[in-house]
Amino acid sequence: MKLGDRYDVENLDGATLCGYCQNYFKGDGDMDTCNECIELAKSLFTNKYSCSICHKEFKDYKYSHNAQPVADGQCCDECNATVVIPQRFKNLGNK
Ligand SMILES: [Zn+2]
Ligand SMILES: [Zn+2]
Repeated sequence: MKLGDRYDVENLDGATLCGYCQNYFKGDGDMDTCNECIELAKSLFTNKYSCSICHKEFKDYKYSHNAQPVADGQCCDECNATVVIPQRFKNLGNK
């Protein structure tokens, strides 16, 4: 079996416990994450989000903003400050 592969229950000898999924896997002493969780983390990390106003990609979803009422979805810092917030104030003024 390959390094990082999850162990079957009967092969627990010398296995390392994955810190993420709590399954045992074949480790080399330095690893603390099984292959499946490494792949999962990679796919999460490389997931790109794009601004629904300027369509620029931003890396981190937590720095995005609600693009309503200008667009559906999320927008970047810049568009939030220059487009979305001014539009919200305008909408308030129109009421
Ligand atoms: Zn795991
Ligand atoms: Zn933007």
